[in-house]
Amino acid sequence: MPGFDIAIIGAGITGLNAAHILHQAGHKVQVFEKSRGLGGRLAARRTDFGIFNHGAQYATARHPGFIQYLENAINYGTAEKWIAQQWCAQPAKQAIANDPAETWYRGHPAMNKLVSPLNSGFDIQRNIRIARITPTDHNRYQLYSFASDQDHKNRISHGEFDGVIVTVPAPQSAELLMPLSPRFDIINDVKMAPCWAVMLAFDSPSSAPFDVFSKPDPAISWIGRNPVTEAISSPAPYECWTIHASPCWSRDHLEEKPENVAKYITAITKTVFAQAGIKLPVPVFSQAHRWRFARTTSPLGQSHLASADGRIIAAGDWCLGARIEAAFQSGEAAAHAMLDALQQ
Ligand SMILES: Cc1cc2nc3c(=O)[nH]c(=O)nc-3n(C[C@H](O)[C@H](O)[C@H](O)COP(=O)(O)OP(=O)(O)OC[C@H]3O[C@@H](n4cnc5c(N)ncnc54)[C@H](O)[C@@H]3O)c2cc1C
Repeated sequence: MPGFDIAIIGAGITGLNAAHILHQAGHKVQVFEKSRGLGGRLAARRTDFGIFNHGAQYATARHPGFIQYLENAINYGTAEKWIAQQWCAQPAKQAIANDPAETWYRGHPAMNKLVSPLNSGFDIQRNIRIARITPTDHNRYQLYSFASDQDHKNRISHGEFDGVIVTVPAPQSAELLMPLSPRFDIINDVKMAPCWAVMLAFDSPSSAPFDVFSKPDPAISWIGRNPVTEAISSPAPYECWTIHASPCWSRDHLEEKPENVAKYITAITKTVFAQAGIKLPVPVFSQAHRWRFARTTSPLGQSHLASADGRIIAAGDWCLGARIEAAFQSGEAAAHAMLDALQQ
């Protein structure tokens, strides 16, 4: 098969896995990513107090291909197994290690590094938000961004491609793809919940006997200790925690100011720690990040969606479920579907 030009929109694990497979198959792949960093919701924020994993916390793997990928990432130095002490409030107040039957993996030193083994050999254009995909007269597709967020009249072209794989969250995929074909209307049925993530750093140890406290309060779905990383401005390591507000609380406070969210969630976290018998020190750093489309609550139920010619494909975690493994599998399925379509 001759080398085709293929565009991938989004540099999360779905997009990078698809890009990696298509590049390995000999095609010219270009990835477009709206942010500066790679990994999407496998996100890490570098601060003066250490690195926070403020998106996905860990991956689990059920399928041999993804287990193999994660084990290779460990050998590559960009992943590690995480044996976390989880707090059980009921029946006894105690911390227990996570179930050895289900290994937890996380990126090393931070979650975004989980995609590093996929990122080589193809071009990635960062800080470009693709806004339109338009068919051309010669069976190809042209990609455009807007000149600016305010200026939607002037478009910037980013080239023509034989195939395009869109790997952005469902509502954003629907916006890009529904004008192209009614086949994509079904994306509107997918539901994704938001999540406010709050990052807290302490300059003295919290004395918490646990690393993880799941669903401690109706407002909070996750409290997790971040791995100790070297702080940028100080030799002393800080203790960094990520708190995820529950989907319900996040939805109710979606348009709240980040500084207010940080204040509210810090106060609830303090109460939760106090109930576990731990007095939290005053944080030296707190910041909130809103994930408008965090976790899929109602997935598509199939690995990807394709246009009639098979050369426009939608993929992402939202196809199969709210997990990193689902995203990885969707990216793989999309790449193979694209290879089939290009052979026609
Ligand atoms: C708070 C939170 C906690 C989570 N916890 C876990 C967990 O513990 N375990 C687990 O398995 N999963 C977890 N998840 C889910 C997991 O992060 C996702 O399933 C997975 O990362 C999705 O990958 P993706 O590549 O499909 O999408 P994304 O990672 O969202 O990648 C899409 C990319 O597309 C880019 N993009 C969007 N629009 C455009 C555009 N128009 N042009 C160019 N680029 C664009 C985005 O910037 C992004 O980089 C969590 C998610 C969140 C938010």
